[in-house]
Formats: sequence, structure tokens, C-alpha cells
Amino acid sequence: MSQNPGYDYIIAGMGCAGLSLAVQLSRSRVRFSKILVLDKELKNKNDRTWCFWDKENHNWYEPLVFRKWGQFRFRSTDFEKKFDLHPYQYKLVRGIDFYNYCLDELRKDPRFEFVQDELLEISSHENYAIVKGKGGYYQGTLVFNSAFRNQTIKTNHINYVQHFMGWVVETKTDCFDETCPVFMDFNTEQENDFRFFYLIPYSKTKALVEYTGFSPGAMKPEAYAEKLKIYFQKNHPGTPYTVIETELGSIPMAESAFVNPYGNRVINIGTAGGHSKPSTGYTFYFIQKYTAQLVAQLENDKRIPEEPRRKARFLFYDKVMLYVLHQKKLEGRAIFTRLFKKNKIETLLDFLNEASDWKTELKITGSMNSRFFLASAIKKLFAL
Ligand SMILES: Cc1cc2nc3c(=O)[nH]c(=O)nc-3n(C[C@H](O)[C@H](O)[C@H](O)COP(=O)(O)OP(=O)(O)OC[C@H]3O[C@@H](n4cnc5c(N)ncnc54)[C@H](O)[C@@H]3O)c2cc1C
Repeated sequence: MSQNPGYDYIIAGMGCAGLSLAVQLSRSRVRFSKILVLDKELKNKNDRTWCFWDKENHNWYEPLVFRKWGQFRFRSTDFEKKFDLHPYQYKLVRGIDFYNYCLDELRKDPRFEFVQDELLEISSHENYAIVKGKGGYYQGTLVFNSAFRNQTIKTNHINYVQHFMGWVVETKTDCFDETCPVFMDFNTEQENDFRFFYLIPYSKTKALVEYTGFSPGAMKPEAYAEKLKIYFQKNHPGTPYTVIETELGSIPMAESAFVNPYGNRVINIGTAGGHSKPSTGYTFYFIQKYTAQLVAQLENDKRIPEEPRRKARFLFYDKVMLYVLHQKKLEGRAIFTRLFKKNKIETLLDFLNEASDWKTELKITGSMNSRFFLASAIKKLFAL
């Protein structure tokens, strides 16, 4: 095994969080000579699609937004509405565009070095951290880790996943309203669970359709495929279609915090840093927010930046939501329908992006009008 020279920073994992951080560092005022970016994969596959909403049009990732919309539709069994999202926009970034854009830019910056290696361990030492891979040891003053996810699930904590499969489908005739994605469509059997579809139109003849569940475990790929077939048939009867891409995934939705067993020279980012919102699975927006905060700390000469953390009250709301879903006394579909029916869309999107103030949050939680929510909140407040 080889001992590599020391790097200023090592970025372990070049997925969404690693590459977001790398690009922002490359463009920043942070002084560094060498950054090593490590991943076991080459990131040359379109392995996921990110949807999110924001109010800005000058974020670093704006040029690679594939589609964006000023409206979306919410559908449930007893309520349906097309929402004008202003000042928000609902945006979509394709994984492959993201990887290509970031890697093209970073390869032009001579301060970045890339190594493909499967990582085995990370550890902090007095003035540096070491990453051990199958191909060697790498030393840097700091490691930003998104490769290893560590979560000790407490026995009394809820440990769910948001699991899904999506198809990019193509039709020969016009089929989709390309001006309006379907954010959530609950017109499907809930199976004593929380299930919905969403549909993101790329054009009149091409769309991403996903079937999603929030449950303790994922389903078999054939089961998602069956649901997608039924959904397409129901909404576009008799229209022939071809599945041109498939994405399958799961995102942790657990109450227990992600932990950092690697010491103070290692900073966890992305899902590993706890930046996947447990009650929704949305992560892209939070990755951008927290990697930008890290870069700002380094620009301000903070030698070891603090690991960005979600605000305690949002962690608490998520715990309550997971608990309510888990108890199954209220249907998840009914909860989300009420949220969309009773609140202004901008306020709700602020809340889901953890950008609201406590007064707004009181209104939103009050709109749930459920003694069961209150009882769950009290229970979670006093739970260990
Ligand atoms: C299919 C899919 C769709 C999603 N859609 C959305 C969405 O629409 N909106 C949203 O907000 N969020 C979405 N998410 C959630 C989240 O945004 C993504 O999971 C996001 O990629 C998380 O970024 P990350 O950097 O933490 O992890 P990743 O992007 O998974 O990056 C981690 C990297 O670490 C590497 N790695 C792992 N282990 C090792 C090892 N031992 N050695 C070397 N390298 C290693 C991996 O190869 C990978 O490149 C989705 C997730 C999935 C899976």
C-alpha cells in the first residue's frame, strides 16, 4: 500500500454532497493547494434524478437544472389543486448532468486530484486525518465524508425508509402536461401505509413517473413495476409507452441521529451528515445549504469548521411526523392532504425547506387540528 502525500482536504464520496462541496470550494476564496476526491465509482451513470424547490436563480447549480416549473399539482382522493408556487420554482436536476458538469469543471482546476478507490476506514489524528482504501492510505488535514453513513438506531426509535422506483416513459402521442408536474398523487391503495405517485413531465411525450412508499422496508422491484403499470394505464388508458430509464432507491427516514465516530478531523456531509429530511426524504436543497455553510466557515479562516446541523425544532417536527405515521391512527395521505388544503403553498414549502419561523410553524401544526398530533408531540418531547 502506498502512503500518499498530505492533502489540504480529502472529499470521501463524490456524489451529490461531495461534488457540491468540491465545486463551491473550487470557486471560493478558501486557500488550499491540493484537494483529493475519492470514490469507488466513476459517476458516469444517470443513477438518480433530484427534484427540489428554491426561490433563487443564481445558485451555482442553476446551469444544470434540466427543467423547472412555476406550478405543480397536488392530488388526493378528496382534494386536488394546481398550486402557483411563486416565489418558488420546482426544479429538476438529472444525476448524469450533475456529475458531468461538476467533474468537467473540477478537472480544469489543477488543485483537484481524483482517485477511484473503495474506502475502508477513516480516522482522525492530532493534526490530520487518514482515509484507508483498498488502494492505499490518504492523508489530509480534514476529510469531508459522504461515503460512510453511521447511525445507531435506538430500540425505541422509528427506522423507516422512503423507497421508490421511477420510470422515464416515452409515448408516441402527446400525453403529458409539460407545464405542470404532479408533486404527489395519493390516488392509490395505501395498504395501511403511506404510498403515492409523482409525475415529472420532461415534454408532452416524456415523463418521469415514480411510485413511493414510506415504510420499515422496501418492496421487490416487480412490485413497484406493477404499481407503475397500473398507474399509467389508469391515467392514460390505451396509450402505448416505452420505459427508457429506471431508477430505484431508498432514503433513510430514521429518528436516530447520524453520528460521527471518526473524530474532529472528519466532517460528515450529505445523507451521512443527517441532511436527508426524515419526514420527506428531500436532501438536495439541504446539501446545498449546508455545503455552502461549510465553505463560508473555511473562507472565514475557520481551520476546523463545525459540522452543519439541522435546527432542533425541525428535528422534533420530523420525529412527531414519523411517530404519527408509525402509529397508523391517522392516515399519512389524510395528513398531507390537510397540510396542502389548509396552508398557503409558499408557507408550506418554506416549512418543508426548514426556512420558516416558529410563528408560521405554530400555524401549520395548528392546521392539523388533531389531538393525536398533540399527544404524539408531548410523547416525543419526553421520550429518550
Ligand atoms: C434514486 C434516488 C433519487 C433521489 N431523488 C431525490 C430528489 O428528488 N430530491 C432530493 O432532495 N433527494 C433525492 N434523493 C436523496 C438524496 O438527494 C440523494 O441520495 C443524494 O445523492 C445524497 O447525496 P450524498 O452525497 O449524501 O450521497 P451519494 O450521492 O449517494 O454519494 C455518496 C458517494 O459515496 C460513494 N461511496 C459510498 N461508499 C463508498 C466506499 N466504501 N468507498 C468509496 N466510495 C464510496 C458512492 O459511490 C457515492 O458516489 C434521491 C436518492 C436516490 C437514491
